[in-house]
Amino acid sequence: MKLVQNRYQLDGVDVIGLVEKYGSPVYVYQTSRMKLQYEKMLHAFKDIPVKINFACKALNNFNVLTFFRKLGSGLDAVSIQEVQLGLKAGFKPQDIIFTPNCVSIEEISEGVKLGVRINIDNISILEQFGNIYGSKVPVCIRINPHIMGGGHEKISTGHIDSKFGISAYQLPHVHRVIEATNIQVEGLHIHTGSDILDVEVFLRGAEIILEAAKSFPNLQYVDFGSGFKVPYKPDDYFTDIEHLGKELTKRFRKFYKEYGREITLIFEPGKFLVSESGYFFARVNVVKQTLSTVFAGIDTGLNHLIRPMFYDAYHHIVNVSNPKGKLRIYTVVGYICETDTFGWNRKLNEVHEGDYLAFLNAGAYCFTMSSNYNSRLRPPEVLIHQGKDYLIRQRETLDDILKNQVILDL
Ligand SMILES: *Cc1c(COP(=O)(O)O)cnc(C)c1O
Repeated sequence: MKLVQNRYQLDGVDVIGLVEKYGSPVYVYQTSRMKLQYEKMLHAFKDIPVKINFACKALNNFNVLTFFRKLGSGLDAVSIQEVQLGLKAGFKPQDIIFTPNCVSIEEISEGVKLGVRINIDNISILEQFGNIYGSKVPVCIRINPHIMGGGHEKISTGHIDSKFGISAYQLPHVHRVIEATNIQVEGLHIHTGSDILDVEVFLRGAEIILEAAKSFPNLQYVDFGSGFKVPYKPDDYFTDIEHLGKELTKRFRKFYKEYGREITLIFEPGKFLVSESGYFFARVNVVKQTLSTVFAGIDTGLNHLIRPMFYDAYHHIVNVSNPKGKLRIYTVVGYICETDTFGWNRKLNEVHEGDYLAFLNAGAYCFTMSSNYNSRLRPPEVLIHQGKDYLIRQRETLDDILKNQVILDL
């Protein structure tokens, strides 16, 4: 967001004008930023074969999926519905990796029917899969490297107590299943969690997966999952992707020599690609002075942006209506009848009722985690593409809430 003569702009589009046009609250995404992030990743790994699969669950709007497909991205899908969405958005089946957790063999078989790549994360399903498909359908295997990565405990997935992946210590068992059923393993996968800051954590993961890879002779790829940390605050730390690129490239080159050939390195970022491309705008309904603080109460809540209440995520907040106002301290809260706080003790340019606030980093896990709690309607989504704004999802109406209800005559 750029400040030009006291007005905020996104790719030249006036922000207040946008919110007035589409109404408040509203999610706005910039394709320019998505493209920039995609290209940053490609650049960091330009010296080895790399493929990027956008993680659908971060932002599943059809136009966003199509945009990434056109950039050359594949898709990371965690449910059969995401697989179906991806196919509808034009991804080729072989460009989709289906990485579910705790789903039935039936759901996995649907993925097989649709022709997408299958990533299996427990030995029970691996065995059932081998018994059904034998050597006919190759698989990827998700390994749990037992690395503690990820910012908040709720978003860390690779540690010892995690439900994800097959323990790196269970590889002998995996090999027994493979021998007994003749399964072809085309890929290995790890995903240690979200918000990993440290390049070291990725390198430790690489060590474990590349060590395991030596015992799988037919690999086409290793999938490194994601977890890159993006900046949330103006001076926040973030994963240094160029540095990671250099270090992993070195490590992979060494591996290629040991392995005898090159295989593709896959990443499946969600946040890294879309978090910073998104803004969520809301209007201040009430400024409420209490004995302890000043609340700014806005026309949205955890139903539209749950990350702060769900896992203490920080979303930077900017008063876009009063860019030069003097800084004062507010607690920004939503309208939901629960504790519904977006930020405590935030310094904002003086807030008046009717002002619009912007939440930054609203591209990933904001719309996709939204709900109708309190019978509230979901906001529209707007895409800014080449300096123009497009409505890509309509604001819900009451009909959306009633749509699937069966009304009885009691
Ligand atoms: C959620 C998820 C991702 C994306 O994680 P980000 O932190 O958004 O980059 C990638 N791979 C798998 C398997 C996931 O579950």
